Amino acid sequence: MRKQIAAANWKMNMTFQQGEKLLDDILGVDIHLKEHQQVIFAVPFPYLLMTRSEVEDEFNYEVAAQNCYHKKSGAYTGEVSADMLHSTGVNYCIVGHSERREYFAETNAMLADKVNLCLENFITPIFCCGEALSIREANTQNDFVAQQLKESLFHLSAKQIKGIIVAYEPIWAIGTGKTATTGQAQEMHAHLRSVLAGQYGADVANEIPILYGGSVKANNAKELFSCPDVDGGLVGGASLVATDFVEIIKALK
Ligand code: PEP
Repeated sequence: MRKQIAAANWKMNMTFQQGEKLLDDILGVDIHLKEHQQVIFAVPFPYLLMTRSEVEDEFNYEVAAQNCYHKKSGAYTGEVSADMLHSTGVNYCIVGHSERREYFAETNAMLADKVNLCLENFITPIFCCGEALSIREANTQNDFVAQQLKESLFHLSAKQIKGIIVAYEPIWAIGTGKTATTGQAQEMHAHLRSVLAGQYGADVANEIPILYGGSVKANNAKELFSCPDVDGGLVGGASLVATDFVEIIKALK
């Protein structure tokens, strides 16, 4: 079975102490993940080591950075490289979240560089794609997301792309409380998988986890995750509440 993943994206929320308590509350609940299930906490940079030590003894719990820089190293004050993340034991990194694309002008070409640097440093990119409301209203979302994959991922070999997690996050659903319907989510995830299959073949495409992100909550996770091509979620707001995130983990297939 494909990996099923509940990934928490804390964004720029929580003090260190609040983060520690949140992790303690979540990890204090006895959830036995199955072999194919995984939980990933994408936390702010200063909390990565603390989070790594919190999950160290937990089966299939992992830590992710929320971003890395698109250059190897050098005079880029305030930035963090994939190599630095690797050297602290971080194995996952969100790449191309829509907030970074929008507020930090990250382009598909820059994201291709970030993906390369992550892979060179043994970090699995959680590659985000997704359309704005105007694109959905014009019904051009399928071409739009296909182009995002093409420009940031399709230079990779089949072996490399199998090391990627894709997250489909319609911008109109992020932090808005407006969730894609299961029909919309399944349709887009099947489309993404067929775009991946067109480039790499069906066997490769079938191995790549595609997460849904956009107002996943405790009360809608099970329905969303039940879609055949939805392999879990990338969760913002609801990942900051222990009881809610625990329910989301329990909703994994
Ligand atoms: C996100 O930040 O990736 C996200 C999907 O946020 P939310 O769950 O709050 O919509």
